Amino acid sequence: MNPYAQIPSVSRLLEQAELSKLIDTFGHQWVIQAVRQRLDLARQALQAGKAIPAQTQLIADISQALQQQALPNLRPVFNLTGTVLHTNLGRAPLPEAAIEAMIEAARHPCALEYDLASGGRGDRDDLVESLLCEFTGAEAATVVNNNAAAVFLTLNSLASTKGKRQVIVSRGELVEIGGAFRVPDIMSRSGAKLVEVGTTNRTHLRDFSGAINPKTAMLMKVHTSNYAIEGFTHAVAENELAELAHQHDLPFVVDLGSGTLTNLERWGLPHEPTPRESIEAGADLVTFSGDKLLGGPQAGLVVGSKELVSRIKKNPLKRALRVGKITLAALEAVLRLYRNPDNLAQNLAALQQLARPQGEILLAAHRLLPALQQALSNLPLTVEVVTLNSQIGSGSLPVERLASAGLAIRSDSKKSGGLNRLESALRQLDKPIIGRIDKGALLLDLRCLAEADEAVFLQQLNGLTSRLHQLNTTETPC
Ligand SMILES: *Cc1c(COP(=O)(O)O)cnc(C)c1O
Repeated sequence: MNPYAQIPSVSRLLEQAELSKLIDTFGHQWVIQAVRQRLDLARQALQAGKAIPAQTQLIADISQALQQQALPNLRPVFNLTGTVLHTNLGRAPLPEAAIEAMIEAARHPCALEYDLASGGRGDRDDLVESLLCEFTGAEAATVVNNNAAAVFLTLNSLASTKGKRQVIVSRGELVEIGGAFRVPDIMSRSGAKLVEVGTTNRTHLRDFSGAINPKTAMLMKVHTSNYAIEGFTHAVAENELAELAHQHDLPFVVDLGSGTLTNLERWGLPHEPTPRESIEAGADLVTFSGDKLLGGPQAGLVVGSKELVSRIKKNPLKRALRVGKITLAALEAVLRLYRNPDNLAQNLAALQQLARPQGEILLAAHRLLPALQQALSNLPLTVEVVTLNSQIGSGSLPVERLASAGLAIRSDSKKSGGLNRLESALRQLDKPIIGRIDKGALLLDLRCLAEADEAVFLQQLNGLTSRLHQLNTTETPC
């Protein structure tokens, strides 16, 4: 008997009731493709002298393959890296108020650029401008796609005129933020010309004043977000730079990077400079991100003098860098939360995670320990509760650490292969669990795992054994 006759034909499989259901959900073309792939695998198995799966198993495999393909690429994950505002994992989690506002804005027409009072055309920046002014003390504000865009647009608007494009910055502040954003590169692309003054560790007011000439367009200060210069150092204070700039009739611009709208010390967190402090020190413009410590959506905020903000808004590039209604809906909702500072830590998801007490995280670790031990019980791995240090992330407060806790998984054997395989299996789950490997241990920092999400976390652990099995079989073919 021809063994290949055991393999059902595509058309016979398609007649099965389960397959018509799959066609309803996934469409004809995708199902046929999945069927063909499975049948090819069965043929290859036969060629290799192996048994082929029964028809029910074939159908189950086809269904699983289709479900797998249907998972979104932009997948929610558990951020257990210990870095709260993780740039590669989407930075600040949004508060419920913002999520609801985004859904409404997405679902219905909204007054995005429409003045409800007059019935005439409105300006989308008006939706958040007065709130931004309220919390920063600035006269005017505008919003673009991210802080890199805010810095770029500011430079392009104020420092790209022929013969007057020099921007003076301290050598200690020529920041690189995660690869693509480097102050010197943004500067040259924007049409401005960087003039570096001082040294890496020490810059004085006289360095700035000595560099001012008729071609100078502005003085700039860049917050050293993601590193610290320590030891024999000196930087010029904002109020001194503002005074010097104004003596020469020049604008003084501060790129704050993170920029929170409130004093974080209130929640036991280290102090981070605020836009209000820069404005009070005399800055004419301040740029900062929406999705770092502010706890909102990706956006770049520019606040400052009416005259300079209106020059920025008139730049045709503003149109290319503007934000959409979903972002504005989220941003407005987040800004409104700052009106009630007493409830901010409950309402603003990012702050809630940052301010979460270590004792609470330790309790979570003890709650989850038995399930993880159980899930790994067949493997030469040990799990224990440990204290950890989280970081804020996104370049905010680079040297500060937040006392945290979590689970540490160590390999009983000398080889670290088991730990790497586990780390990889956790990443392959439907809702991937992202930890970090440090000094021979896989660490799961539980600061960002909300108690309400623990059930889903535990559910994912159930799928772990089969993932590990799959990895083992794909890595060592028999
Ligand atoms: C983060 C940061 C930026 C870039 O902001 P994005 O919102 O990521 O575009 C620019 N400057 C400083 C100082 C920063 O910290």
